[in-house]
Amino acid sequence: MERFLHRIGSEDVAPAAGEFLPTFNPVTAQPWAEIARGTKEDVDRAVDAAAGAFAGWRKTSPSARAELLWRLADVIAQHAEELAQLESRDIGKVIREMRGQMVGLPRWYRYFSAQCHNLEGSVIPLDKTSILNYTRHDPYGVVGIIPPFNSPVLLTSFALAPALAAGNAAVIKPSEHASTAVLLFARLVDEAGFPPGLVNVITGLGPEAGDALVGHPEVRKVVFTGGLPTARKVAARAAESVKPTILELGGKSANIVFPDADLGSVTNGIMAGIFAAGGQTCIAGSRLLAHETIADRVVEAVSERAKTIVVGDPLLDETEVGPLAQPEIRDRVNDRVRAAVGVGAVATAGGDLGALGDRAGWFFPPTVLDRVDNDMPIARDELFGPVLSVIRFSDEEEALAIANDSPFGLAAGIWTHNLNRAHRMADELEAGVVWVNTYRSLSYASPFGGRKLSGYGRELGREGLLEFTQTKSIWVETSEEPMGDPFVLR
Ligand code: NAD
Repeated sequence: MERFLHRIGSEDVAPAAGEFLPTFNPVTAQPWAEIARGTKEDVDRAVDAAAGAFAGWRKTSPSARAELLWRLADVIAQHAEELAQLESRDIGKVIREMRGQMVGLPRWYRYFSAQCHNLEGSVIPLDKTSILNYTRHDPYGVVGIIPPFNSPVLLTSFALAPALAAGNAAVIKPSEHASTAVLLFARLVDEAGFPPGLVNVITGLGPEAGDALVGHPEVRKVVFTGGLPTARKVAARAAESVKPTILELGGKSANIVFPDADLGSVTNGIMAGIFAAGGQTCIAGSRLLAHETIADRVVEAVSERAKTIVVGDPLLDETEVGPLAQPEIRDRVNDRVRAAVGVGAVATAGGDLGALGDRAGWFFPPTVLDRVDNDMPIARDELFGPVLSVIRFSDEEEALAIANDSPFGLAAGIWTHNLNRAHRMADELEAGVVWVNTYRSLSYASPFGGRKLSGYGRELGREGLLEFTQTKSIWVETSEEPMGDPFVLR
């Protein structure tokens, strides 16, 4: 079985405690590799390496940083297929999605390469005209990055690309379910020629290696992407050292369909929202809000298409939905669907674990649940699986009320050709991202993040860059006047 070590100071490093954890292939439910089980000692070494590299990196010119980020983009492009295959095997996401992500990833680094030159501060005109006051955007230092299991390299990059552009160093603790591609990625960072130790990866368990990283006094900011229960622990741990965090959490996003929408696009938009990536995406449009006059037609179209989805080996080109990444997720999805049917939801596609036959892997059939009420647990809790809940509404006001009646606030979709309504709704929806007549679009150039229990902070775009800087205000007295009264504010 393949064995993966930590990546510290640009070298493969065995875990201090000598222990390893299995990593599973969700198609076979069998372990296919081992990853190092990181402890505090390993985290300390990685943070030391990062702090050492940061001392030089923060003094590096914007052009030098930009060139390295651009070179990394080229190296990623050369290894895109390898990264995609590794992620697909490790977490079961279909190769067509992972290939798309990895082929597109170089652009994310090229965008932030250009941003290296966009860290201008400002000169502030003060009433005290003899003082020159200007600001600088300083890097934090060592940033801790904790991505979730789904799309580990892309979601690591949401934080890593701007963090490096802004002059920070990083220690990454990937999910114990999805570490191997992040380790390969760290090698590519070294191949591109970044200073040794600038990017380090410690693998292992969240409460062990992850907790040590968040608690480390030299880690100056933490970017956490994952579930709400973990986020609460991470935020509390970070608060002990008054450490700022970005929390990118889950959602229960509403995809809202009005009668004037184009039904062909709507069907694909709903499918993209919930069945792409097998529903294992934070922006899953897991609540379909359908106007009562067209709900039956939409449910029929989506259910018919859902029944034809090719479920199988994610490494095959024709596969549309792979297995869920962990048996616990598959079992939770199954239990929640059964409970929803028990309280009145009607499965118009999937719903039954047995429908896929006797498979070793952690598969769950694409499922559409009609007649869901927004108060049911299935409409309130994040499932992270291929399950769409259909809720009917009668007018715009009701659609808004249902969409916003959620503890989460990550994303929302609106399907209408009525321009006024689209903008009205976009204004009123409590979500960090709103899509009109499209769904699941993302760009390195546009800020991304949630509201309410979906988290805080913004990644990507210019806002995402500035998250990795702290503003320093510098005051320079230019007059030759001697300093006066020491007991007043000046
Ligand atoms: P998770 O919360 O179980 O784990 C996330 C990460 O936290 C993992 O790397 C894990 O090892 C680590 N961790 C666990 N306990 C920790 C601790 N005590 N201290 C420090 N780190 C710890 O989440 P998951 O199951 O990997 O991912 C699924 C969740 O992520 C879903 O809720 C999904 O919506 C969310 N997500 C959000 C976004 C976003 O950008 N908003 C993107 C993708 C996924």
